[in-house]
Amino acid sequence: MGSGLKYEVTKHKSSFMGTPAISSLHTSDLTPSTPCRDYDRIVLVGRFAPSPTGPLHLGSLVAAVGSWLFARREGGQWLVRMEDLDTPRVVAGSAEEILLALERYGLTWDGDVVYQSQRTVLYDEALRLLRERHLVYDCGCSRADLQRAASAPLGREPVYPGTCREGLPAGRVARAIRFRAPDIVLTFDDAVAGHVEENVAADTGDFVIRRADGVYAYQLAVVVDDAAQGVTQVVRGADLLSSTARQIALQRALGLPTPSYAHLPLVTNPDGSKLGKRDGALPLPSLDERHVAETLAYALGVLGVEVVPDTPQRMLAEALRRFEPARLGSS
Ligand SMILES: [Zn+2]
Repeated sequence: MGSGLKYEVTKHKSSFMGTPAISSLHTSDLTPSTPCRDYDRIVLVGRFAPSPTGPLHLGSLVAAVGSWLFARREGGQWLVRMEDLDTPRVVAGSAEEILLALERYGLTWDGDVVYQSQRTVLYDEALRLLRERHLVYDCGCSRADLQRAASAPLGREPVYPGTCREGLPAGRVARAIRFRAPDIVLTFDDAVAGHVEENVAADTGDFVIRRADGVYAYQLAVVVDDAAQGVTQVVRGADLLSSTARQIALQRALGLPTPSYAHLPLVTNPDGSKLGKRDGALPLPSLDERHVAETLAYALGVLGVEVVPDTPQRMLAEALRRFEPARLGSS
């Protein structure tokens, strides 16, 4: 797919924002800082955080456009972060393809693109803090152990039964690292989904923050990065709504602020079934002008804004004027 691309991805340089140099990272990098020192009046920071496991597809375009609209309508910043930690699934060239597509769709971002694969030292530090606070432990359960130990309702991850909570059972070796889920009801108000309550201990149990293969789990990385980047607003697909309580639990454990949340409606197939990366999500059509205009109009339609095909810049400007987040919840 990447071989046909003929555009160069412009590097967006920024004088006021950027990833701290790896060598200079320390504990204080986990505390949020003002990401825009030269722009004190800008308080809102949104972001789009795709996984470069393939080209941008329709579902992720909707998340990109939606998060862009939410941030830009308030005059906020919009950051892009590549969630490329799951190296076995990362496809070479995908990050560049995604950035190129964002550019062709008129979705300009602020600051440098951040790559999670270059930020392991931040996750190490978060893990160290959690260990120090006795909030994590080694788990020696294999996938088969977990399946035997727990029965899960269809379509849900099994609740971890706590097998290794008080120490590794005899004969098992440490594999993953789990976070002790707090047995309390966490609540948040989602701009689209409304009021949400979840008890992570009951719904998920102690969850993995570093996998058996040594890769940091999405839940930890996203929390650390949102805080380190000063993100104040998380807008993403509704498939991640069920991750939010786990992320809030981690934010609290690490003493990090909780951003606002908006979970966008998912794009569905014509038969109503979900489009997912693994089950044949529609890749975006070619990045020529006509396809970009039509696809952008479609994505905006999913977000409740009808805009006639035009240049992406004009379409987005019009969408900014007409986008009403409140309407998303009722659609
Ligand atoms: Zn275990």
